[in-house]
Amino acid sequence: MRIVLLGPPGAGKGTQAARIVERLAIPHLSTGEMLRAAVRDQTTVGKRADEYMSSGRLVPDEVVEQLVIERVSEPDCLGGYLLDGFPRSVHQAKILDEMLAQRGAAIDVVVNIEVAESELKQRLSARGRADDDAAVVCKRLEQYHELTEPLTAYYKKRGVLRNVDGHGSPDEIFDRIMAQLRSVGAPVG
Ligand code: AMP
Repeated sequence: MRIVLLGPPGAGKGTQAARIVERLAIPHLSTGEMLRAAVRDQTTVGKRADEYMSSGRLVPDEVVEQLVIERVSEPDCLGGYLLDGFPRSVHQAKILDEMLAQRGAAIDVVVNIEVAESELKQRLSARGRADDDAAVVCKRLEQYHELTEPLTAYYKKRGVLRNVDGHGSPDEIFDRIMAQLRSVGAPVG
């Protein structure tokens, strides 16, 4: 099953993604993680991505798209995967759909974690990652609303969107996600 995990920064995507991929035994494809690794390793991609990430802006599409296209072509992705942090704009979603269509495939379900804005700001300021200082957090939320949030309408139109209440404990949120995945036929047990 090919799953996209959507939600604003601070919604707990990383935590939930780790649990989902463990339950379904599929690879976890996080573009944020791939990019942070590239920055750490000072690769060409990393050098290019660094200035965008540290100011809370999205990295240019072609950089991220290339990373994703290479990763989903690897053999461990044949049985499905969880995309976390990609797509992050309607443009990226279209590129992904085109790439999958060429292979006779499609995204099966999009899990959208919803959290109130006030709580997001609190959670992000408590997290302490390098790109979590106040100005950068604001920029990341702004970029989310401007570029990523329109994706929910895009996927809703395609009938694959499943909204999940992102308030409460990680266990509660995970149970809600499992219920949604079960309802679309994922082998969650
Ligand atoms: P994340 O770990 O998903 O919150 O991503 C951290 C940062 O990596 C983001 O603020 C962006 O600068 C960059 N990034 C991750 N995924 C993407 C993407 N799909 N498109 C553009 N930039 C991305």
